[in-house]
Amino acid sequence: MSTGNTTPKLNADNYYGSKDYMSVSLFKAFAKCEASALATLRGEYEEEKGEALYLGSFVDEMLTGTPESREKFLAENHDIVYKRDGKLRENFARAQEAVTRLNLYQPYMLELLSGEHQAIMTGQIEGVPFKIKMDSYKPGEFIADLKYMKSLRSPNLFQPMIQYWGYDLQAAAYQEIVYQNTGHRLPFYFVVITKEQPAHYEVGEIPQEDMDAALETIRQNIVHYWDIVQGKVEAERCEDYNCDYCTLTHVVTEPVDTNTFGMSAKQRKAMKGEV
Ligand SMILES: [Zn+2]
Repeated sequence: MSTGNTTPKLNADNYYGSKDYMSVSLFKAFAKCEASALATLRGEYEEEKGEALYLGSFVDEMLTGTPESREKFLAENHDIVYKRDGKLRENFARAQEAVTRLNLYQPYMLELLSGEHQAIMTGQIEGVPFKIKMDSYKPGEFIADLKYMKSLRSPNLFQPMIQYWGYDLQAAAYQEIVYQNTGHRLPFYFVVITKEQPAHYEVGEIPQEDMDAALETIRQNIVHYWDIVQGKVEAERCEDYNCDYCTLTHVVTEPVDTNTFGMSAKQRKAMKGEV
């Protein structure tokens, strides 16, 4: 399916730089805080890249990278990955061990990771151009995504882990864009390794009804977010206590009701009965 003539074709080199498409990570950023997402997109704000991101990329490279991409990653992030004595830092050594064990004992997981790596596709959702990059894609068979995560358990007792991290949104968007390009609605598998010791290994599949609900969530919000990107609508600040962007840019101009201390914009509105 065509995405229109104005949007440039994407490849490995321009994928991340391109601002002509919505992506899963951008959608999730907007869902969290519109103001923060917009400032990040405009290059006015950069969230600190924690070790978790590098660890995820490290595991990705070790399992699905090419010798060249691996070498490039290790050269670019040498001081993050290695100690002064040239050995892997503790968390990277642990990740390396988990990768080695997967290679030795998990043929099914390896099979799922053996598809086309970093496969890029574009399509549109509610008319908004959308880009995806798949860890492992086997045409006509499946889409798989590798996750190196803290635990299989959700940090929130009342929300399943997949929804807590928004992985259902990712799975739904990927499935939809592949469908638009090929006519096949493929199963989406999460190939999970945990950072625990010993590491847990699992392959997850989200029930289709949950995928459908997640796609519906995207459909309901994507046009609004895209309008913000294009400057048609103003971005709202979330004012969540844990939002670094809102905290860093908060300018105190008047006293506020102390009963609302620590509340997000949404919670304040709810308290005033505005939602
Ligand atoms: Zn915010």
